[in-house]
Amino acid sequence: MEGLADPSFTAPVYCSEVTAAILTRIRRGHKGKNVDKHFQLGTDVEPTYRHLETRLVRPVAMDGGGGGRRCRAVCRDVFEILCGIKRFGSLELRDGTRITVTLLPANHCPGSTMFLIDGPRGAVWYTGDLRAEQWFLDGLLDSPLLQNDAGNGLKKFERIYLGTTFSQEAFVEFPTKEESIDAVLEVVYGEDKNKHVRLCCSILGYELIWKRIATTFRTKIYVSPARYDVYANFSPVPPSRSPGDISDIVHHLTTIPADTRFHACDNFCEVCKSMAEANNLISIKPSTMAWAEDLEDAQKGFRTKHGRATPGKPEDRDYVRRMGKNRVVR
Ligand SMILES: [Zn+2]
Repeated sequence: MEGLADPSFTAPVYCSEVTAAILTRIRRGHKGKNVDKHFQLGTDVEPTYRHLETRLVRPVAMDGGGGGRRCRAVCRDVFEILCGIKRFGSLELRDGTRITVTLLPANHCPGSTMFLIDGPRGAVWYTGDLRAEQWFLDGLLDSPLLQNDAGNGLKKFERIYLGTTFSQEAFVEFPTKEESIDAVLEVVYGEDKNKHVRLCCSILGYELIWKRIATTFRTKIYVSPARYDVYANFSPVPPSRSPGDISDIVHHLTTIPADTRFHACDNFCEVCKSMAEANNLISIKPSTMAWAEDLEDAQKGFRTKHGRATPGKPEDRDYVRRMGKNRVVR
């Protein structure tokens, strides 16, 4: 999001409803502003992207309520996600060409989306960061949105811009979200049940871990008021029965540190500091990089387990093979 933070940025920002709901509430921290890392939230800074409020362009629902209802054989999770498909209507480019831009779920952090662009010169798919788990990929490729006009196969794309952050040999084996969450729970179960647990996190993308821990241990997760505020306006997220549903995440959070032994502090809060001094604190840092490379953070005393990320090589190959692309741009 570099560039967007510049107050002089005045171009329209086409984004999902969820992104529009949370972006202007994010208070991105900086070193020296009461946070350790720039990708954490700050507690004493102004909302970083507030100046974009009038620049955010939200999509509208597709006619017929979304292509997902016509899917042939998708699993329940993808079905529910695709029912929420939205698009920006007809957009006119500078040369007068008209295109449609459809937002597809990316199975990544809240608000993440892929862009499907259709115009007179063909179709383009821009994935951005995505989590191409097999069940997700199967359901997505079954969507009518990706079928050709004859209805007998997948659409031909002129370009696919493919997120390949983890297309390295080190990530050939890649954990699913569920496996990652199970690994975090495994660490917690392996510790004394009175231990204070600090769940290290970045700006977004750890909500499912919090929800599983909150429901498993029948507790809440402590977050800073700044982080709570990010989720307080989460109404654009449609509730569902999907295990990936985080529409109710705010109900699993608390801003009172003493309410729970599970903390997702942006920086060490006073409770975490005292617990660390009493040697009663474990820190869990879900990290794909650390999972593969084992493990710089472990040397600092973190318990490290794998977390969120974009697809590794096998998924890339399968994805590209099935898309029938003309050209893939990494
Ligand atoms: Zn804390």
